[in-house]
Amino acid sequence: MSELTGNRIRTTAAKLGLPHLAETINEFTRREISSTWSSPRNSPSGTTTASARACEHRGCHTTKTLDEYDFSFQPDLDPRKVKDLATLSFVEAKANAALLGPPGVGKTHIAIALAVAACRAGYSICFTSLDDMVRNLKAAETAGRLTSKLRSYLRPSVLVVDQVGYQPLERAEANLVFLVISKRYAKGSIILTSNKTFSEWGQVFGDEVLATAILDRLLHHCEVVPIKGPSYRLKNRLQAIERETDVA
Ligand code: ADP
Ligand code: MG
Repeated sequence: MSELTGNRIRTTAAKLGLPHLAETINEFTRREISSTWSSPRNSPSGTTTASARACEHRGCHTTKTLDEYDFSFQPDLDPRKVKDLATLSFVEAKANAALLGPPGVGKTHIAIALAVAACRAGYSICFTSLDDMVRNLKAAETAGRLTSKLRSYLRPSVLVVDQVGYQPLERAEANLVFLVISKRYAKGSIILTSNKTFSEWGQVFGDEVLATAILDRLLHHCEVVPIKGPSYRLKNRLQAIERETDVA
């Protein structure tokens, strides 16, 4: 159920003098949002339609918010840039956002936080890693169901494509990615995360011309957020090691 639908039911319940119904709806909405983001697989296909939307969230086992993001740990990242994105005006404009940087800087964290904010604002969202999306599209193509699978990546207002560039793609796989990006162009937002610079995308997609064609659509209306700092994962690890060494 979208936030808009929830609000409508709440308003009507209040008018009818049914305060308990309004409360129940609040609880229901809360549970729906948390189940969308906390359970890795709600259906055998790995796809769930919680929040009445096609939300694929393999690899996204947890909810993150911007409040949990420690901006002081990344002094080169201007918090205003991320908070601007959180207003979701780029979603309204069907534009894109790209979070770039090395592992552990919080790209996925911010992408999830933005998607959760969009979900709460009533937008439909779909979260996937690039590899999962490619694997699913290839399987669907083999089974003769490419059009319907493609639709699940085209329909949502926001498509999060996590981990672009972790593995180089074959030509046929890169073509499927191009299909998604070009068909979403000016129709719906993409939030992507990548550990590769755009100049390295030729290697990721195995072809400079195809990579340029993808980037052309993607970057035409895109907020690019480079995060250059240290790994937060490593910070926790190093602190733990230091503690252990202190005790010893
Ligand atoms: P990336 O996608 O860039 O590799 P993640 O978003 O997966 O990094 O971050 C790794 C872990 O560190 C996650 O648990 C994330 O919530 C946490 N994290 C990263 N950066 C920050 C930060 N600045 N403040 C709080 N937590 C962070
Ligand atoms: Mg990540």
